[in-house]
Parts: sequence; C-alpha cells; structure tokens
Amino acid sequence: MIPQNFEYSAPGNLRDALALLAGGNAKVLAGGMSLIPLMKLRLAAPEHLVDLGRVADLKSIREEGGTIRIGATATHYDIESSPLVRGKCPLLAEAASNIGDVQVRNMGTIGGSIAHADPAADYPASFLALEAQVRIASAKGERTVTIEQFLVDALTTALEPGEIVREIIVPVEPANAGVSYQKMVQPASGFAIVGAAARVRKSGGKVAFVRVGVTGLAAKAFRATGVEKLLEGTSGSPADVQKAAAVVSDGADANTDLHASASYRLQMAKVYTARALTQALSRAS
Ligand SMILES: Cc1cc2nc3c(=O)[nH]c(=O)nc-3n(C[C@H](O)[C@H](O)[C@H](O)COP(=O)(O)OP(=O)(O)OC[C@H]3O[C@@H](n4cnc5c(N)ncnc54)[C@H](O)[C@@H]3O)c2cc1C
Repeated sequence: MIPQNFEYSAPGNLRDALALLAGGNAKVLAGGMSLIPLMKLRLAAPEHLVDLGRVADLKSIREEGGTIRIGATATHYDIESSPLVRGKCPLLAEAASNIGDVQVRNMGTIGGSIAHADPAADYPASFLALEAQVRIASAKGERTVTIEQFLVDALTTALEPGEIVREIIVPVEPANAGVSYQKMVQPASGFAIVGAAARVRKSGGKVAFVRVGVTGLAAKAFRATGVEKLLEGTSGSPADVQKAAAVVSDGADANTDLHASASYRLQMAKVYTARALTQALSRAS
C-alpha cells in the first residue's frame, strides 16, 4: 500500500521542529513503527511529516534531582540497554526489553509509544506504577502533566495540536525496592493481552509501599489502587498476594478482540498481577 503524498522535514533542533508543527496539518514522525503502517493503510494522511530523528537533545537519558529524564526519541533499545535506567529505574528497562522484537526496539521510541497510546502498549503499566510525569513542549511553551492526565482514552492523549512529548520523568528507584513487569504476550506482535507492573518495598517484615499499573485490559492503562490498598501492611505472603490481585479487574470495562475475550482478559489480569507482585516481593530486600 502506498501512502498519500506528503511533505517531509527533518529539522536539526527543537525550536525549528516546534515551529514547523505550529502550522497546518503536520504530524511528528519518530520511529515510524505505528505511524507508517497507518499511513500505508490510509488511516492517517498527514500533509507534512516532521521527523524528530535529528533533534539530538530529544534522545538524551539523564539523572536529575532524584529523577531519570528520558528524551522522547530514546528508542526502546536505548532504554533497555542504558546502564542508568537498568541501575536506577529497572522497571522501565524491563518493560522496554519486553516490547515487540529487536527491529521494533531499535526503531520505536518512548515518545512515539506514549503519544500513540495503544491500549495494549507495554510502557503505560510501568509509567503508572512509577507515577511518571510527561513534559510536553510546543512553540508557545512547555507544560508537565502526570501520566494519568496524559492518557485520556484508547489512542487519545492530552496532547494538543502543535504539542510534542519532550521527555518522560520517572523517579530513581530506592535500592531496597523490588520491581517486576509481567505480561501475557500476543504472539504475533508481542503486544500485551494483559500486562502488570509492580513496585514494592518492605519494612519491618511488612509491605510498606506498593504501586501497580495494568495495561491491555481496558481502553487505557490504569493504576490498580484497590490491589495496592489490600497488600500494603500485610506480610506479603502468597495468600496476601492472591487476595490483593483478585480485585485488579474490579470495575474494569475489559477489551474484547480477536486475541482474547473480555472475560479471559479479566481472569488473566489477576494471574499476571499476582505474578508481578510475587516477583517484585522476591526482589525487594
Ligand atoms: C511489529 C510491531 C510489534 C510491536 N510490538 C509492540 C509491543 O510488544 N509492545 C508495545 O508497547 N509496542 C509495540 N509496538 C509499537 C512500538 O512500540 C512503536 O514503537 C510505538 O508504538 C510507536 O513509536 P514510534 O517511535 O515508532 O512512533 P511513530 O510511529 O513515529 O509515531 C506514532 C504516533 O506518535 C506520534 N509521535 C511520535 N513521537 C511523538 C512525540 N515525541 N510527541 C508527540 N507525538 C509523537 C506520531 O505523530 C504518531 O501519531 C509494535 C510495533 C510493531 C510494528
């Protein structure tokens, strides 16, 4: 399939990129893993593509003030292989290493993934567990929103026309934390039928901190606060984990597609949440 004709620009800095995006029917091109297939199917027909690949400072991964800041065009491979991310935010490195296949991880970017907002994408579960923030830029200025504000619905985010994701901000994980991302893989694409990300800390033999994010189950990823409340304060025994994970699907409006029915996803969300919590607890010191 051949896309509709379009203009192509590859600016060398962020200011020029934002100026190009400020007018007309321009769209950002990052890794092209999601956008190019949509254009070939003519489900998207932008008049102008603004390629961010030459904007060097959008690719940086750096530590600042207790956070890790990941530039929008860092690829999934950059993230899974970054010593900084692996050492100080291992949940994100684990999520990145679970995406698609090696070709997709070499081309696809964190900013493209989050802006595309596929309900089965891997990162959102971890971003929610990490209480990530999204730094957004446009020709008019900048703003930072929480991941919960950013993810609006399936394929829909809080981005306004002319805005781009500039970076994702996640906390440095304390050394005593345990983390895990577990997903049921759709074997053809690698996307998550369901995926659960967990972060835990223990203190005095009790679970002192729990964060759980779930992807693939519903139209948008969500934080499983019911699970967190049930597990916090317990000893984190297998029975405690099962009891907490059992409520993960409560109130969820589960997706149905050719890969899995809603009832199957609701059940698998419990199984994968329990697995993520169990592994995170075993890794917490
Ligand atoms: C075969 C295959 C398997 C895959 N498997 C998985 C999987 O297992 N798990 C998973 O999570 N994902 C998977 N993906 C998706 C992959 O992670 C993509 O990389 C990602 O969804 C889009 O990133 P991209 O950089 O390619 O963005 P693009 O395709 O270039 O862009 C996607 C959308 O985001 C917009 N955009 C891009 N960057 C920005 C930005 N910085 N600011 C604002 N808007 C922006 C574009 O305008 C476009 O609308 C798969 C993709 C393919 C093709």
